[in-house]
Amino acid sequence: MSAAGESRRLVVASGNAGKLREIRHLLEPLGFEVLPQSVLGIAEAEEPFDTFVENALAKARHASAASGLAALADDSGICANALRGGPGIRSARYAGEPRSDARNNRKLVDALADHADHRAHYYCVMVLVRHAGDPQPIIADGAWHGEIVGAPRGSGGFGYDPHFFLPALGKTAAELPLEQKNRISHRGKALARLVECLRAETGSTPSG
Ligand code: IMP
Repeated sequence: MSAAGESRRLVVASGNAGKLREIRHLLEPLGFEVLPQSVLGIAEAEEPFDTFVENALAKARHASAASGLAALADDSGICANALRGGPGIRSARYAGEPRSDARNNRKLVDALADHADHRAHYYCVMVLVRHAGDPQPIIADGAWHGEIVGAPRGSGGFGYDPHFFLPALGKTAAELPLEQKNRISHRGKALARLVECLRAETGSTPSG
């Protein structure tokens, strides 16, 4: 356990610059030094499982085992009601390799064309392990509900955002300023919950 006031090193199992910025912004005030696994030369882990939580846990364990530090990983995707939660964990490669947002979006819109129910939600789970064998990982998740529209709108965000419509706002996720998206999104909610869990662990946050 680190002494009070000393920063605790935390590896993040993601190379995505936007995610890292968000995670740093929220965790540095809690005394964490946030390091992307790439700077430690850690390769990306496999994601072979059928659930978001299993994949996030595998990624966190992998980063922790390779670094000897506490590690945080996330897994996310979009789940359509009419597709029984699909594309789900296959969201990034829904239309196959090489990854293409345009082809993924086309495939999702086509898959829903014959269904009356176009509701979908983004889902994100964050898993933090204090060490690779941590029997009690911190698990925090978040969902963001909307519906899939055929015509894309907006130029912000990434992935499925131009087709992810939020009826309450009258906008797609790609039409929202990034700050607003980060506040209300699946990832924003999961991160906020993770921070709450860490705060609640007074004096027993990850020691690396
Ligand atoms: P990952 O968790 O970064 O691997 O994301 C998995 C996939 O889910 C991404 O490649 C996107 O296709 C989709 N996804 C997850 N979060 C978002 C989001 O906020 N906007 C758009 N697509 C997302």
